[in-house]
Amino acid sequence: MHNLPVTEIFSSIQGEGPYVGVRQIFLRLPKCNLRCPYCDTETKVPQQVRIEKVPGTRLFSTLENPVPLNQFINLLQTFDFSIHHSLSVTGGEPLLWADELQVLLPLIKEEGLNIYLETNGTLPDQLLQILPVVDVISMDIKLPFDHKTYWDVHETFLRYSTQKEVFVKLVVNQNTPLKDLQQACDLIARVDPSILTILQPVTPVQGIQSPKPKQLLEWQSLLLEKLSNVRVIPQTHVFIGQL
Ligand code: SF4
Repeated sequence: MHNLPVTEIFSSIQGEGPYVGVRQIFLRLPKCNLRCPYCDTETKVPQQVRIEKVPGTRLFSTLENPVPLNQFINLLQTFDFSIHHSLSVTGGEPLLWADELQVLLPLIKEEGLNIYLETNGTLPDQLLQILPVVDVISMDIKLPFDHKTYWDVHETFLRYSTQKEVFVKLVVNQNTPLKDLQQACDLIARVDPSILTILQPVTPVQGIQSPKPKQLLEWQSLLLEKLSNVRVIPQTHVFIGQL
């Protein structure tokens, strides 16, 4: 039986995208293949998993990492599945653990919990490993940073994702180049112009500023020229004090 290193498990309120406000169990996994400049997530493998037993208390019990896969169902069942919309598998980049998730997620689905995957959208082969058991895919399109671009791999990933419910998130800031937004828009339009696309203003961090109101309106108009469903939704969990 495999093991899986975990950062934390907790029950909270989804703060991003079209499912904002739903209650989810969050399974946060460590490690990431990218280094986004606005990243606010610790991605190192911790020695111990943190599990918030009573939601909102910030009181965590701990468990040694990695966790044997056959212990997960018992661990998750300490949360009441009936009040949760789904299990949010998040990171870091959770698809770095596709081998382990391929074993684990079907067991969780059998227990009646839907699977909501939050991913940076750069590992299409790994997505295929778990795609049959995923219900909703929240996929980032990473605009170029550090002189690296991800257009081709994102397009492949998005094409695979259309077998399931998928929406795309573009995190934007005051200095986002218009040409990058145009390129992202063209990519989505080539796959399917009806794919829900979220412009997510960055939560200010390390000198990176949120876009001005006028910029958001202009960018949404621009994307709506080729895409039929474009919404502006900020991260909400930060201003309601959720994890
Ligand atoms: S993909 Fe997500 S976890 Fe990875 S560096 Fe970027 S923001 Fe952080």
